[in-house]
Amino acid sequence: MNKDLRSFLSQLAKMGDREIVRVRREVDPRFELNTVVAKLEQEGKYPAVYFDKVKGSRIPVVTNLCSTYEKLALALDTKLEHLVEEHAARERHPVATRTVSNAPVKDTILTGERADLGILPIPTHNALDGGPYVCSGVGIVKDPETGKQNAGVYRHMVYGPQTMGVYMVRAHHIFYLWRRYSERQEEMAIAIALGHHPALMLGAISRHPGAGGELEVAGALLGEPLEVVPGETVDLLVPAAAEIIIEGKIIPGEMHEEGPFGEWPRYYTSFGPQPYMRVTAITMRRDPIYQDLCAAHSDHLVVGGLARMGSLLMRVREVVPTVKAVNMPMSGGARAHCYISMKKQTEGEPKQAAFAALTVENDIKMVIVVDEDINVFNEPEVLWAVATRFEADRDLIVMPNCQGIELIPTAYGHNRNEHGNMNTKLILDATKPCPPVPFPERADVPQDLLRSLNLSDYVVPY
Ligand code: MN
Repeated sequence: MNKDLRSFLSQLAKMGDREIVRVRREVDPRFELNTVVAKLEQEGKYPAVYFDKVKGSRIPVVTNLCSTYEKLALALDTKLEHLVEEHAARERHPVATRTVSNAPVKDTILTGERADLGILPIPTHNALDGGPYVCSGVGIVKDPETGKQNAGVYRHMVYGPQTMGVYMVRAHHIFYLWRRYSERQEEMAIAIALGHHPALMLGAISRHPGAGGELEVAGALLGEPLEVVPGETVDLLVPAAAEIIIEGKIIPGEMHEEGPFGEWPRYYTSFGPQPYMRVTAITMRRDPIYQDLCAAHSDHLVVGGLARMGSLLMRVREVVPTVKAVNMPMSGGARAHCYISMKKQTEGEPKQAAFAALTVENDIKMVIVVDEDINVFNEPEVLWAVATRFEADRDLIVMPNCQGIELIPTAYGHNRNEHGNMNTKLILDATKPCPPVPFPERADVPQDLLRSLNLSDYVVPY
């Protein structure tokens, strides 16, 4: 059986209440739906939540599908401790898409005025959001020169029955492609795929080199080719096993006020007029499920975190082969902080790894590089390395005016006093000097004794 949203929901169901729960009573898509998820999160619970009845629509909603790394380990059929390594290993071998003629997502085809966003249960997520947002779709566009399809996850503010925003982060491929279409005074076709196996979203977010190739990464993560089918009104191939596809076009010069929207740094952002899409078709399954993402909460952070860590591990290793592990901890929203461990061979090499990370991912503001004895997934250990192996005048690099991410409140523009898309980047080299420069050993009990000692031979109740 092909992998899709439904196969993943069955996998979650086998894990019980910890991974998925159901809400049978009717909920309002405006705030109530997302607040149920936030309330669970407040209690330390992160299940996917399936809402049977959402006010104003006949379509159920499932959300919080990617809220824990455990769920993503399940999605990639691996163990938590191998998750990033597995993502990187699979991404290295992209799998071509397979075009099919028979697609569940074509059960219902709505075009013209019937392609009305009002039939979808699109939630309004956080208190000050400007309105309902589609934020869990995989947006597909085509490079006008190479013909390659590029995919990513974008925020789409709903403006009316047939119009919604397409916010493009300035550093992302879609922005470059949109600029190219605009220069040519051509419309950009776009298709948004909603509801699929998490591998599709992970693939779309991955930082694969060059514009395009994300659907092939999704195939690698699925372990099978992603099946695609031609769109109804756009010259794009769209995922055949998605629940819903929204097709449309972005017309050069057309703009609409966008935002605010609660983003991954857990702040609202709005940037004035932005391009938007005119909806030309909605296709869906006979009984579709709308997949949402709990914006500015764990779901949002975790899915973007894994995709970036996987790509970073793959691509930083291309520059520095001795990189052992990469973490993007939750303290930086799984985006802004990056910890890299490596088996250092020469002086300066840790900075080379940090430069590579910064070129792959614009969201990173601070890279801390540590030796291989430090577990990058243990944040106190990383900060201990900073405390004991780092001196700021020698081991700190401050790089102002770098392309960063405008979603960070302190990001700035050319004149520094206006908001913009630049951040000041930091590299902290917290590795020990290479021999022959002396450096003390870590203090601990004899390691062979620690390994062999059996506590039950010693310890009894007091
Ligand atoms: Mn891309």
